[in-house]
Amino acid sequence: MIAFNKPPYTGNEDQYVLTAMHSGKISGDGEFSKRCHAWFEERLACKKALLTPSCTHALEMAAILIDIQPGDEVIMPSYTFVSTANAFVLRGAKIVFVDIRPDTMNIDEELIEAAITPQTKAIVPVHYAGVACEMDTIMTIAARHELFVIEDAAQGMMSTYKGRPLGSIGHMAAYSFHETKNYTSAGEGGLLIINDERFVARAEIIREKGTNRSQFFRGMVDKYTWVDLGSSYLPSELQAAYLWGQLEKAEEINAARCESWHEYYQSFLPLERLGLVELPHVPVECAHNAHMFYLKLKDIDRRAQAIKSLKMAGVQAVFHYVPLHSSPAGKKHSIFVGEDKYTTAESERLVRLPMWFGLDSCSIAKAVSALS
Ligand SMILES: *Cc1c(COP(=O)(O)O)cnc(C)c1O
Repeated sequence: MIAFNKPPYTGNEDQYVLTAMHSGKISGDGEFSKRCHAWFEERLACKKALLTPSCTHALEMAAILIDIQPGDEVIMPSYTFVSTANAFVLRGAKIVFVDIRPDTMNIDEELIEAAITPQTKAIVPVHYAGVACEMDTIMTIAARHELFVIEDAAQGMMSTYKGRPLGSIGHMAAYSFHETKNYTSAGEGGLLIINDERFVARAEIIREKGTNRSQFFRGMVDKYTWVDLGSSYLPSELQAAYLWGQLEKAEEINAARCESWHEYYQSFLPLERLGLVELPHVPVECAHNAHMFYLKLKDIDRRAQAIKSLKMAGVQAVFHYVPLHSSPAGKKHSIFVGEDKYTTAESERLVRLPMWFGLDSCSIAKAVSALS
């Protein structure tokens, strides 16, 4: 069976993890964490990059940092992972979903303004499949209404919008290094990216259990103490070491994934012309990271058939999010503003094909022929 996902692995991770293990410092923020932070801060030209145990935790930190209070509203798409919403619900927010664009599966920027109320505090665009949301429009709306923008860039590392890296545009952003993402820090991991200087000092405190330990380590205070809200949002040095092995090969991983993506795309073009499948759309201003290769079938039944045909050919293919507004917790904590014209309908047509670093042409050809 050709697996839907295989965690990325370059070969250097073992050595770095062992080095970290024997370095005498295996809790976080050691040498490998510092290297990772510097790598991201240089690439993203952000004010601060902080490794976290997951993208979920990075989003939770963002929700604390923008001081979400019970009753605040946060606008996002319903077609996303639970953590996008949960991070804000944990602080008492009400989630306000608006419809997605059928071409990119991203939040429809044209629908955001109508969903804004005096309670609205933030917009959370999710860059689905590593393809950017319409960020210029979103940032303009946010500025007009004095809202925060937190990019859920879990899938977006190495992607750009008008030449700018995803995660570097909003006030803050979150990356994921879960094993299903393009880069992993030993299975679980994430990154909080801060682009607005105002959040930097407090982010370090929240991440260190609400203490000023980071300042203490830098010699800025002579003892550390409990100063604010916080939790344990700091990953182990072993995770950072594993990730470092991947950051060194970031370009190579990205190039290989993009090659696989284009191979799929070219091979499916004849089927698209026959009207059998619909191919993903990437707006011209977006360069993506080939996080995902998906197709859309005519309807949910034809998708089920496609998944079955692929399975019979030895190819594991899977659908994706069940829209959050139709989930049990979603019904409790959210509202959907406007019409659900595309969120449910488009999600029911979408199927994801195997996509990972090291996927070979032969496997891609197998998937294409299973649907031909
Ligand atoms: C993977 C993912 C997350 C969660 O990432 P974790 O690192 O597993 O917490 C959040 N949002 C989106 C859009 C994701 O794809």
